[in-house]
Amino acid sequence: MKLTKAFFWVVLLCISPLVHAAPGLELEALPTKVDLTPYLAVMEDPDSQFGEKDLQDEAFNARFKRLDAGTANYGFSTSDWWVRFSLTNNDADLHNVIVKLDYPLLDHVEVWVFSGDELVRSWKTGNRHPFTTRAIEHRDFLFPLSLMPEEEQTVYVRVRSKGPINIGLSLFGDRTLVPEIELEYLIFGAYFGGFMLLALCISLLYLMDRQVALLYYLTYIISYSSYMLAFNGFAFQYLWPEAPEFGQLSRPVLLTLSIIFLLQFCRSLLGIRKLSYFLYRAVTLLQLVLGGVLLAVPVLGYGILVKPLAVFLLLALVLVISMGVVAHLRGEAAARYYLWAWSVFLGGLLLYLLKVFAILPHNFITHYGFQVGSFFEFVFLSVALGVRVRELRIQSNYDGLTGLANRRHFDEELEEEFQVSDRPEAELSLLVMDVDHFKDFNDRHGHAVGDRVLIELALVLKKQIRRPGVAFRYGGEEFAVLLPRTGLEEACVLAERLRERASEDVPFEGVTISIGVVSRQDGEFSDAAEFFDAGDKALYHAKNTGRNRVTVFHDGV
Ligand code: GH3
Ligand code: MG
Ligand code: MG
Repeated sequence: MKLTKAFFWVVLLCISPLVHAAPGLELEALPTKVDLTPYLAVMEDPDSQFGEKDLQDEAFNARFKRLDAGTANYGFSTSDWWVRFSLTNNDADLHNVIVKLDYPLLDHVEVWVFSGDELVRSWKTGNRHPFTTRAIEHRDFLFPLSLMPEEEQTVYVRVRSKGPINIGLSLFGDRTLVPEIELEYLIFGAYFGGFMLLALCISLLYLMDRQVALLYYLTYIISYSSYMLAFNGFAFQYLWPEAPEFGQLSRPVLLTLSIIFLLQFCRSLLGIRKLSYFLYRAVTLLQLVLGGVLLAVPVLGYGILVKPLAVFLLLALVLVISMGVVAHLRGEAAARYYLWAWSVFLGGLLLYLLKVFAILPHNFITHYGFQVGSFFEFVFLSVALGVRVRELRIQSNYDGLTGLANRRHFDEELEEEFQVSDRPEAELSLLVMDVDHFKDFNDRHGHAVGDRVLIELALVLKKQIRRPGVAFRYGGEEFAVLLPRTGLEEACVLAERLRERASEDVPFEGVTISIGVVSRQDGEFSDAAEFFDAGDKALYHAKNTGRNRVTVFHDGV
């Protein structure tokens, strides 16, 4: 018996190229999940000449060929695509099964089910039909079939779509579909939940720290996740089930918006304007073109724009990666994480595409490769953004020439330390210093040499000042040293040492500094500004009494 069966299969395999019909699927026990691909016969109808009336016609049926390539992906095609398969119930019980067509973006999907010569069921649905036309209300196309014992049914599916034609058919027992859908929704829930949390965090961060890159990131997150909702069929199912035409337009609009915002975000994140003006302009140009596409969507419709959009998407990716490479070569710290983000994104995309073209098997990682890749893309982009925001904050608080904290930072710190020193017995001292006759020095030696003097002076300060003391470049050639928990005596010792070291350690002849010292204890001075003024007055006094000296503020100085 077994031998005859084997013999039968060998013969079948040998003559299979001659056989037009794929073998029918025989149902014995309740199937878990069956990929229908090996059971499919397909037919291209470029002129849309066939319809329901032809289904029983032998000549029509003879046109079908077994699916040779592993998957039924036909890219962009204006033809009607027909798929046929048959199922036989070999069991003694009734079989309820569900056929799943797993690409939710097909415009027109028609299904006819024959039992022998009799048409038993048919559906006419698709992404351009209201959601209520679905046999089962689900983002993918699901068609329920019932097979009596010994019954054979033949199913015809016709697909027509302006987007890519991607026909992935599988069969579920009615009880095996639920766990699959549950897992799918759990994953998507986590995916979109992650986007919502990220959007919330970035909004809060933006409210606290008005960095414009955060705002661009937020616009990218919102437009991209909305596009993903539309792409995966959720937006149609839950947001506008009665408006398929609107849904049709929503996808190119959301995709275009995502690319525009993405480019804007990347450019701002990496500070491209300063790194490469060419890339900066190229991004602007592509954004303008995409803006044009956005305006054209309602006029031209999805069908005409889908191919140019694919090209623009590719161009945008090239720009996005070029910006990362340029920033990385120029030593931007955020660029490393940024390039990781795009590597995982492209890796995920590649896995997904290799699955679509049947080079890799269909499994969790390959099927959700795109989602997994883009999830990690956002993780790395967030890290890159964090690094960038920290750098910008450092830049905004530190002086580029000397590396000391700047005036802005000084004002904040002075205010804070002043309040801390309001406590009884808390002490705070401040040194305000200025280079003597620096204008003359510049005139004699040139501005560049003057700059080197400032750098050397900053080095002296860094070397001599210990925590909790902090040195600031307060202005052009003016410095300040804030000394929390330090009394007048100690402050004067330090000031005197700084004055000496400045004239000895700075390797330029004749550089001297004057220093004003002020201290507070037991709540002297009403506010930080008055405290600083006192230090400034002491400095003024030092200048007026011969320079290159330390003067302490006393009432009336
Ligand atoms: P005084 O002893 O009274 O302070 O005399 P001064 O010449 O230093 O007087 P003033 O404070 O008016 O002049 C400050 C000079 O410092 C003017 C400016 O050319 C120079 N300066 C300010 N910032 C910089 C800088 O970043 N680099 C250089 N090289 N010079 C600077
Ligand atoms: Mg000055
Ligand atoms: Mg000066």
